[in-house]
Amino acid sequence: MTNKVLILGSGTSTGIPIPGCECQVCQSNNPKNKRLRTSIILKIPTLDNKQELSFLIDTTPDLRQGLLNHKIKKIDACIITHTHADHLHGIDDLRPLCFGPPPKTIPIYTSKKFSEEIENRFPYIFGDQANKPQLGGGIPRLLIKEINFSKKINKTTLHGIAFDFFLLPHGLGETIGFRQGRFAYLIDCHDVPEVVIDHLRSINLELLIIDCVCRAPHRTHLNTDSSFDFIKKINPERAKLIHMGHDLDHLELETEAKKSLGGTVSPAFDNQVLTYRNK
Ligand SMILES: [Zn+2]
Ligand SMILES: [Zn+2]
Repeated sequence: MTNKVLILGSGTSTGIPIPGCECQVCQSNNPKNKRLRTSIILKIPTLDNKQELSFLIDTTPDLRQGLLNHKIKKIDACIITHTHADHLHGIDDLRPLCFGPPPKTIPIYTSKKFSEEIENRFPYIFGDQANKPQLGGGIPRLLIKEINFSKKINKTTLHGIAFDFFLLPHGLGETIGFRQGRFAYLIDCHDVPEVVIDHLRSINLELLIIDCVCRAPHRTHLNTDSSFDFIKKINPERAKLIHMGHDLDHLELETEAKKSLGGTVSPAFDNQVLTYRNK
């Protein structure tokens, strides 16, 4: 079994098409221009190769649709990269995956800062309220577990799988990025620190998925120029662009990336499955 990345969504915070927008990309018939909010699932075989673990990265407002699209019945763990609405507010849609039988609790891995924000934003799931009797509805059974960010690069094992976690600047805040095997995921960031570039270069990445929200410079995200620059610096075998807004037509961006970086770089699209090796 190889490690897989399933693209549940590849779009910016509004999703594409944007309701009410009549631009060329929002009106496009190309299915690759239809983008749910950005989220991926990593499918990683266990060491004995007997099982496949599924790590969901972010719970977007489109989570339910993503789970339906791929008939997903099981998520072993979830990683929340940051607490913006487009990455978190579908968290309640994890509930059906907890039903069982037997009932299941899904661990949510994130930083200490984001744990506190998530707990405050969803008191009915995590606070004292969660322990009170529920009148109908019910709540997802989730357990927040903090990732330690005391270093610049934090080696962490989740369910027997090795990850390196690091923080990326995202406007005034930050986002969690990670490396697993020969794959790295850099989402929602306007810069990539030198220490992260050096670390990822040294890994000899097979696959990089990187933020690329629009053409013009952006205060909280990478744009085409900066994203292409970091791809050159990190130098993976293949790179996919993600979190695209409506000024980026799939075909045009594909052509542009090919021109600047060669055929190994292209935009990701919803429902795409990518593979990478551990070593
Ligand atoms: Zn986002
Ligand atoms: Zn964000």
